[in-house]
Amino acid sequence: MSENKIPYKIYLEESEMPKAWYNVRADMKNKPAPLLNPGTLQPMTAQELGAVFCDELVQQELDNDNAYIPIPQEILDFYKMYRPSPLVRAYCLEEKLQTPAKIYYKFEGNNTSGSHKLNSAIAQAYYAKNQGLKGVTTETGAGQWGTALAMACAYLGLDCKVYMVKCSYEQKPFRREVMRTYGADVTPSPSMTTEIGRKILEQHPGTSGSLGCAISEAVEAATSQPGYRYVLGSVLNQVLLHQSVIGLESKAAMDKYGIVPDVIIGCAGGGSNLGGLISPFMGQMLRGERNYRFIAVEPASCPSLTRGKFVYDFCDTGMVTPLAKMYTLGSNFIPSASHAGGLRYHGMSPVLSQLYHDGYIEATSVEQTSVFAAAEQFARVEGILPAPESSHAIKVAIDEALKCKETGEEKTILFGLTGTGYFDMYAYEKFNNGEMSDYFPSDEDILAGLSQIPHFPGNEI
Ligand SMILES: *Cc1c(COP(=O)(O)O)cnc(C)c1O
Repeated sequence: MSENKIPYKIYLEESEMPKAWYNVRADMKNKPAPLLNPGTLQPMTAQELGAVFCDELVQQELDNDNAYIPIPQEILDFYKMYRPSPLVRAYCLEEKLQTPAKIYYKFEGNNTSGSHKLNSAIAQAYYAKNQGLKGVTTETGAGQWGTALAMACAYLGLDCKVYMVKCSYEQKPFRREVMRTYGADVTPSPSMTTEIGRKILEQHPGTSGSLGCAISEAVEAATSQPGYRYVLGSVLNQVLLHQSVIGLESKAAMDKYGIVPDVIIGCAGGGSNLGGLISPFMGQMLRGERNYRFIAVEPASCPSLTRGKFVYDFCDTGMVTPLAKMYTLGSNFIPSASHAGGLRYHGMSPVLSQLYHDGYIEATSVEQTSVFAAAEQFARVEGILPAPESSHAIKVAIDEALKCKETGEEKTILFGLTGTGYFDMYAYEKFNNGEMSDYFPSDEDILAGLSQIPHFPGNEI
């Protein structure tokens, strides 16, 4: 098919939308390590996990074998409200860059919550509802996950309690109000409403909070009230599974036009959008069918893959969660207050961590001023005002396209555009005023974080 036949936007018909999620773990030779009970250092059993998570989600969390997991009809119906999301050929950006590269992006910002997080929020809320629970608790950093969960819970009539990292609660009043509009109960974290919150406040008075602290509070809130479970917007195997809808749709759309990406790029906070985007492509690579380059992009201020260690660590600051084997900076590492709140997490999905460890994924870190420069360049030619998190992927996609310009290679680049940046205008303002600076943790900062990693035989850093 000739080049100019590829439209600006490739949509799928409703009938072409995926009916099952793809579980990349089924094709991994080295499975992600199991979550461990921090007390016994034994793998968490389904029963133990069931005290925190919904039963069906526990099954999904532990399932390393089934490649396809059918998407329940009610979730498919919800997906139809805002999916399929467009796969866009970035003709205008290519023109602007004068690159021979062909650039595509999968845009997940076309729903009210403004990001890909709704893909997993509706799934998790659905299983909670199905189990007859009253409600769910969670944390939110920048607010995208909390917003998505609030929307999903409102749709299903579930109670939703959100612990929002305090600096975001104060800096992002609009997100907070979107959540409340959808009926969620929003508490700034750390708070006095939980034991762990009170303890953190005592040890760090005046702290602006972190995702790790908010997770501790949300887990405590779920486990101390009957009829509630905790849900998490990233990192977990189940979340990557739900987010595989991004990659499945991208691949279906590309297959329609015979397009094969050479490089697939995504920003990486906890790893869910990147994991979801690459899953079906990674599956092909793991089965030996085809090769791709995958690039994880993280902020220089929170470089879990590029400067962290692959060990067991807590998922939260309060050390109340199970241990996950992942690339981590230490659960006590509190990254500087960068403007990409959704990427400020000390760890990384165990699935992505394993794949990175085994050499299937590359990782790179970028500074926020260069990210915002890329975001503005993109906004001006492609029209979409991107989220700061998503702009990490834009930055590296542009760099790759510029390399093609030098070498003359006509590579096909696919990147994940995870969301819109309308609630991040404070960050754009800083950038536009030339008041944004870059922050790198020093080697001492990194070592201080890593020194807090639990010590036990086989878990040396
Ligand atoms: C949460 C978020 C991210 C990062 O989370 P992952 O789990 O790594 O995908 C990226 N972009 C946006 C817009 C987000 O809201």
